Amino acid sequence: METRATVGIAGLGRMGYPIAANILQSGFPTLVWNRSGDKAAGLLERGAMWAETPSAMAQTADIVLTSLADPVAVESVYFGPDGLLDRARSGTILVDLSTGSPSLARRISAAARERGATFLDAPVAGSIKAATDGQLGIMVGGDRAAFERCGAVFSAIGKAAYYLGENGSGATMKLVSNAILATIVQALAEGVALGEKAGLDPADIFTVLGASSAAAPVVAAKAATVTERAYLPAAFTLALMQKDLWLVLSLANELQVPMPATSIAHDMVLAANATGKSGFDFSAVALLMEELAGAREP
Ligand code: NAP
Repeated sequence: METRATVGIAGLGRMGYPIAANILQSGFPTLVWNRSGDKAAGLLERGAMWAETPSAMAQTADIVLTSLADPVAVESVYFGPDGLLDRARSGTILVDLSTGSPSLARRISAAARERGATFLDAPVAGSIKAATDGQLGIMVGGDRAAFERCGAVFSAIGKAAYYLGENGSGATMKLVSNAILATIVQALAEGVALGEKAGLDPADIFTVLGASSAAAPVVAAKAATVTERAYLPAAFTLALMQKDLWLVLSLANELQVPMPATSIAHDMVLAANATGKSGFDFSAVALLMEELAGAREP
């Protein structure tokens, strides 16, 4: 599909807003919608058009991207009154960039197909900076021809788009990725708490880890956040990580796959949220582990 395709973006949160800005910047006629309309102001000033409802957006746009918090939001924006599936036209491609449930992706796809439209589950790797820089990794499940027709849109927002198979494959890949990310961060949080309680300087811990074989990219990425306890403003919140890990464990339960490390990571994220940290960056499990260990004065 050439770059003149009209693109809609529903969901202008931390990720959706910079994604929409890059679509606009790349020259696509751009429609935007968000539950809280005020968040669209900066995009409207730069030439985006406001859609009154998701349904109105689907009636006009050739490709609709959604970036929404959780499956409840996705369900509502696709299936709710005035939802995307209300008036999706034959040929419209609906693309969900949210981290979501593979079974919901298959259900949306079936409903879209009944209307002659196509649905791709296409969650993204990378946080706000990657979204702002147009450097996301996009994990896509669904119809291959639709994936190819979205090539110019994916290039506008990402550095790579991976075609992974039928609907649900993109969603599944993202859950695999976040299960691994969360367990690495849980291990990091425990190690830092142990080192601190034993008297090491947190900054030294990160310096040495950074040059060791334990240095996953997230270790360097979160060094300043953890050592300075700068968990606000969050890039990716603990609330969203709890949602993702619950989706991981639901899929694992459905498929009878034991995931002991992820189960513990989920419980610690849940504990962090239960003690008031749900709006903090997801690396704030390190703060929880410090508190549990009595490792560092507040
Ligand atoms: P966010 O800042 O919390 O934004 C969430 C968006 O969902 C907002 O537009 C919000 O609208 C909308 N929303 C929530 N509940 C809704 C409902 N019931 N009906 C309609 N809209 C609703 O979240 P985010 O960080 O941008 O994340 C968006 C998605 O990307 C999530 O699935 C997340 O897991 C995934 N993700 C995030 C990151 C990251 O680093 N942040 C990285 C990769 C993937 P309002 O503005 O009206 O509240």
